[in-house]
Amino acid sequence: MAESDAEGTVESKDFLRTKIENDIRTGKYGGRVATRFPPEPNGYLHIGHAKSICLNFGVAEEYAGTCNLRYDDTNPDTATQEFVDSMQADIRWLGYDWEDRLYFASDYFEQFYEWAEKLVREDKAYVDSSSEEEIRELRGTVTEPGRPSPYRERTPEENLDLLRRMKAGEFPNGAHVLRAKIDMAHPNMVMRDPLLLRIRHSTHYRRGDEWCLYPMYDYAHCLEDAIEDITHSFCTLEFRNNREIYDWVLDAVGIERPRTEQTEFARLELDYTVLSKRRLIRLVNEGHVAGWDDPRMPTIAGIRRRGVTPEAVRSLCEKVGVADVKSRTDYALFEYAIRDDLNWRSPRRLAVLDPLKVVITDYPEDAEEWIDAPSFPRDVDKEGSRRMPFSRELWIERADFMEEPPRKFHRLAPGREVRLRHAYVIRCDEVVKDPETGEVIELRCSHDPATMGANPADGRRIKGTIHWVSARHALPAEVRLYDRLFAVADPDEGLEEGEDFTKNLNPESLVVVNPARVEPSLADDPPGSRYQFERSGYFVSDASDSAPGALVFNRTVTLRDSWAKIAARS
Ligand code: ATP
Ligand code: MG
Repeated sequence: MAESDAEGTVESKDFLRTKIENDIRTGKYGGRVATRFPPEPNGYLHIGHAKSICLNFGVAEEYAGTCNLRYDDTNPDTATQEFVDSMQADIRWLGYDWEDRLYFASDYFEQFYEWAEKLVREDKAYVDSSSEEEIRELRGTVTEPGRPSPYRERTPEENLDLLRRMKAGEFPNGAHVLRAKIDMAHPNMVMRDPLLLRIRHSTHYRRGDEWCLYPMYDYAHCLEDAIEDITHSFCTLEFRNNREIYDWVLDAVGIERPRTEQTEFARLELDYTVLSKRRLIRLVNEGHVAGWDDPRMPTIAGIRRRGVTPEAVRSLCEKVGVADVKSRTDYALFEYAIRDDLNWRSPRRLAVLDPLKVVITDYPEDAEEWIDAPSFPRDVDKEGSRRMPFSRELWIERADFMEEPPRKFHRLAPGREVRLRHAYVIRCDEVVKDPETGEVIELRCSHDPATMGANPADGRRIKGTIHWVSARHALPAEVRLYDRLFAVADPDEGLEEGEDFTKNLNPESLVVVNPARVEPSLADDPPGSRYQFERSGYFVSDASDSAPGALVFNRTVTLRDSWAKIAARS
């Protein structure tokens, strides 16, 4: 029931929840709510699946119902145990639990077959021995009715005999199929005698070589929901046309309980990426990325390795909401959800990605000071600090120095002063260049000893603050600057004949910096630790490749939406 707030306005629920509340009120399923998440284990889960997971498990939680995890593993050629295992890890990581409700469509093969015999006996299905092309040809088009197959009028006895021999493995792939006997002129193409079972001599990762008769999606899916007594079946909009065949199948096999109610919602389409396992598998197999968990991938595994938290993914799903019209989601919304979540949980650290040497000429050669630097800014209500060493030689960011600065440049330049974060104010006295290339290789600076944690005594204002690390103490690290996987929002846009979405991959989606220099407090943190490297972005130490002594950091997200600036400029 919609809740009223203090003002008496009704909190708006999405249409799926409104429907569920209605069904609870009318007692349609005796008040029961049973949903399911039914992935096909033919790849890794992606952020689009996360939307469906949050919806199905979320609804079950909210209405004291249950949510099944069901593998739709009816294709022996693509289903693998690796995909099954990765999906469970990903769902758990997102914070959901199917408890003892783990199901496999491959456990229902016997039941699918029994129902198929029933359909055949009642003349509601027939064995067609046409080839794939012949079947396609006879199917007609949206504007033309289809025509019956020459095998359509086989007797139930003949069909039953063939079906049993199909199951027994007497025929090669493609020799026969079992089809529903509905109407070859039906206005809904899906209803033109759809295929129910097909012969496939392949080893199934769970059933081995036990079966060679595999169900088609339209036959299996509605029956899976019926077997598990699902009340609400949520699926994406493309399946609206399939409702009719689901109803036909359920009627034909004689399911009498209150039927599963299917409701379609718009799939998540996220800009600058692709959300289809079939496409993602190509990116992996063709080597465009380093694997399913490459941090550029929109897979849950990739997102996790990139440093995004489950809370941020769930928050994105909440922000996107569920609707019944197609839409694309702005990538900036995802990045916003990530920053919003990382801001309060990530301790601040200093890391120099493109180091330029600074020598503090008036600081003693072997002196060092350990500064107690807070880990969080004041607006993040969290305690904590770390010790940072200061010494005579430092690294700063190359981009924080300009020999001939424009008017608004408030960082370091010849004769100018800048504040070193958590430390002194320094002035650039001398610029040392490589005599051959003219490249700036060192800045010789002096410091104002009275400015540690204090403003200059004479009241002069220092406008800029830059980050730095002590050269002697800093740790070398590999930093992987990840960016959007595609260069354009819609990877299908602007393609010419013969080109495909891979043409739109962003060639700069990964820039490796090695070595960057990071403050020594990071030395022993466990892989997977998250930080904000001040002024550079949010980073995570790589869960697979980072180790003490060989640190590797992934950039999760920049601090600002740098692409918005690019778009605004062009
Ligand atoms: P893919 O094309 O990535 O393989 P799929 O729909 O074929 O997607 P399934 O494994 O069959 O993949 O999907 C499991 C569930 O996840 C389905 O209920 C499906 O509706 C849902 N789902 C898949 N992609 C999205 C998406 N982009 N947004 C929302 N839900 C999705
Ligand atoms: Mg699929």
